[in-house]
Amino acid sequence: MSTAEHDILIVGGGMVGLTCATLLAQYGEDTARSFSIGIVETSPPAPVRPNADIELRVSALSRISRTILQFSGIWPAIAATRISPYRRMCVWQADGAAGSARSISFDAAELGEPDLGCIVENGVIRRAAWERVNAMHSVSLHLGSAPAALHEETDALELILENGQRLRTRLLVGADGARSWVRQALGVTSREREYGQRAIVAHVESQRSHRETAWQRFIAGGPVALLPLDDGRSSVVWSCPDATAAELMAADKKIFDQRLTLATDQVLGSLTTTTERADFPLSLAYAQRYTGRRYALIGDAAHRVHPLAGQGANLGLLDAAALAETLAVQQASPVIDPGDPVILRRYERWRKGDTLLPMGVLDGLHRLFGAGWVPAARLGGLGLGIVDRLAPVKRRLALYAMGDSGDLPMAARVS
Ligand SMILES: Cc1cc2nc3c(=O)[nH]c(=O)nc-3n(C[C@H](O)[C@H](O)[C@H](O)COP(=O)(O)OP(=O)(O)OC[C@H]3O[C@@H](n4cnc5c(N)ncnc54)[C@H](O)[C@@H]3O)c2cc1C
Repeated sequence: MSTAEHDILIVGGGMVGLTCATLLAQYGEDTARSFSIGIVETSPPAPVRPNADIELRVSALSRISRTILQFSGIWPAIAATRISPYRRMCVWQADGAAGSARSISFDAAELGEPDLGCIVENGVIRRAAWERVNAMHSVSLHLGSAPAALHEETDALELILENGQRLRTRLLVGADGARSWVRQALGVTSREREYGQRAIVAHVESQRSHRETAWQRFIAGGPVALLPLDDGRSSVVWSCPDATAAELMAADKKIFDQRLTLATDQVLGSLTTTTERADFPLSLAYAQRYTGRRYALIGDAAHRVHPLAGQGANLGLLDAAALAETLAVQQASPVIDPGDPVILRRYERWRKGDTLLPMGVLDGLHRLFGAGWVPAARLGGLGLGIVDRLAPVKRRLALYAMGDSGDLPMAARVS
């Protein structure tokens, strides 16, 4: 079997890896000096089933993420589907009530924006990105076979797939998610902390309209969120301790619905699940290095956050845009080596700072409200109410919720 040669090989064709490939290819087309890009993916996206229900996995995408997806040409295929904008966000604490002095709410209209972000099925984002990548001549796909070995050569890395295929690349990008094979094969340590929590997801019908609002209540054990869906239902993301999650996953539907209705303080009245439930383990993790000689990590391969603020995919898309931009600047210069650690370090400096801050904030919120320590949670509840009345701080938080944090890549600024 012959060896395939690439300038950049991305392992992982999830939404982050595919967006990165698209941006890299696009910058290449713009400068007429394109990198040859390869993608290794073990599970390509499944085709759309006609009349399929809204998928269980959805993401709250910030306006900044939408701008990146627009810039990369992925957005039109997403916009043609059932996306659901959310125009308000309301967060409150167990012993308060939505809209009370112990809550905080954000309204897009107050910020002069049409919405704060939108809820999109993960599969829709991925399929749209997949279609876009398939239309780009500088990207080739290596599908269905996982990486088995990685060797360092003088001027390249060689990746050998389980089917024996050899791939040589000057830069290897790990976009292969939380359990990244690339990160482990490179020996990059990841600091990890298990929350001892799982997030249960399901879709529910509610007695009252969701009013295009993302609702989140902090209760002992973890936050429970209701995200508005296009067909009037809401997507539940309920984070709870492992034992409670096991109990809730095993509970019969009627009991689950009752407990969920109580957990959300009946903010939308009685809730009725209309789908199966699924659960996911929650942990905090970040790689010690995002880059080194001939490698870069992006998305969940580099960092994993609690889903309480719906930031994982949003941070990953910013990584994708920042890495592509860092390399695009280089692409225009006469001597091009995308694996040059000095250039890659610019991406690391750029994104490490910008991801560690939100990770710390999210972890702090989890500890404050979710760890079950009542005085801290009370203080947190009071804090929400106070922040709600501090216009400049609240505005900053709202901008952060829309994805406007840190130093934004060009793809996140041009709409
Ligand atoms: C319950 C829950 C709710 C969430 N809600 C939100 C939200 O509202 N908003 C938000 O921004 N984020 C949210 N997140 C986080 C978000 O889902 C992730 O951050 C995002 O999916 C990460 O994307 P990724 O492309 O980096 O990784 P992944 O989506 O994990 O993709 C990795 C890709 O790599 C492939 N792969 C893996 N291993 C290999 C290998 N060895 N070889 C080849 N290919 C490989 C996989 O098949 C996959 O396609 C949520 C997470 C959870 C658990």
